[in-house]
Amino acid sequence: MKTLDSLSFTNKKALIRVDFNVPLNDAKEVADATRIRAAKPTIETILAAGGSCILMSHLGRPKGVDTSLSLGHIVETVSEILGVPVQFVSETVGEKAMQAAASLQPGQVLMLENLRFHSEETAGDESFAKQLSNLADIYVNDAFGTAHRAHASTTIVAQFFEDQKCFGHLLAKEIKSIEKVLKTGEKPILAILGGAKVSSKITIIENILDKVDHLIIGGGMTFTFVKALGGNVGKSICENDKLDLALSILEKAKQKGVSIHLPVDVVAADDFSNDAQQQVFEVSNIPDEWEGLDAGPQSLENFREVVTKCKTILWNGPLGVFEFPNFAKGTIALGNAVADSTAQGAFSLVGGGDSVAAVKQFGFEPKVSYVSTGGGAMLESLEGKTLPGIQAILA
Ligand code: AMP
Repeated sequence: MKTLDSLSFTNKKALIRVDFNVPLNDAKEVADATRIRAAKPTIETILAAGGSCILMSHLGRPKGVDTSLSLGHIVETVSEILGVPVQFVSETVGEKAMQAAASLQPGQVLMLENLRFHSEETAGDESFAKQLSNLADIYVNDAFGTAHRAHASTTIVAQFFEDQKCFGHLLAKEIKSIEKVLKTGEKPILAILGGAKVSSKITIIENILDKVDHLIIGGGMTFTFVKALGGNVGKSICENDKLDLALSILEKAKQKGVSIHLPVDVVAADDFSNDAQQQVFEVSNIPDEWEGLDAGPQSLENFREVVTKCKTILWNGPLGVFEFPNFAKGTIALGNAVADSTAQGAFSLVGGGDSVAAVKQFGFEPKVSYVSTGGGAMLESLEGKTLPGIQAILA
């Protein structure tokens, strides 16, 4: 892997793609600085090695120049977090950006204006990428959240640096975590897939059937499988056009020796709301007017048994409608089981969308091995794709 320690940064200018797409409050102050703090180790390593840093990022989805989305709003916060004054140039490329970059001294940090003020960024425009590359000696990609996009700053720019390019600490950690699950994971390996729909997870399921020993299927996806097997799912979310697909997944899993664990009971509701009446039913025997919104108690016991015997755990997607506190018990119980297994030495990776939100909301973040910083990038990695931003560094 091409990491920061494979290059010499002494007296070199490093162009770093960071993910500073942070939320701003009404006063245009940083409302959550998690992403800025996450980039700090990479910046510190380069400064300590005698280099200087040119930070580039997008913020929001501006259509052309939009001063409400200027990265100038976050400079003060970035300076505070890094503990060094950060210079800001109100251009991304151009004369002013060139001058600011040229006069940068070792130990100094410069931040460029929002990349997406230029439509060339998302278009992956080569001459825009070339102009960015002219600012520095080395290219570092530390933005996993955009690594699945072939944008100018995430992918195209890398071709102008030959061997002077590498991953930052954050991106390297993401790549290693995914490898630890999909390539070098200690057996037994478990994937837990929850969330709403089979259709949005099908490519992931197909990819991981070759890699895992156990697969827990939970959340809304459950009911497509249960119906395909002949059960009554009542009003539960169900993709009727995916019943054959569900059966073929079960068949493939059998052929590959993967144990599939579906819920055996559900907490159902008489309405899709937090205050609905609740009742536990067998998963294949849900009355017509009821819909399953969470895993039932026997399912949770079964899942805990699987989770605590596995050495490698991947978790994507909640077990129920965790946004309703009355239907969050299953997701919380699963989080506890994953945390316990991690405390006993298992490696656990939580990634992709809503499971990350759930893990953070219920306080499990410090109790699992790694929580991914990229939604779409994580999902595409689990689908088995090599992300363009990662490929560009390896090329
Ligand atoms: P995904 O983005 O595919 O991971 O789906 C996450 C969403 O699935 C969350 O918003 C959950 O509320 C939803 N979900 C989980 N279980 C169920 C269920 N039994 N019925 C309906 N939606 C569910």
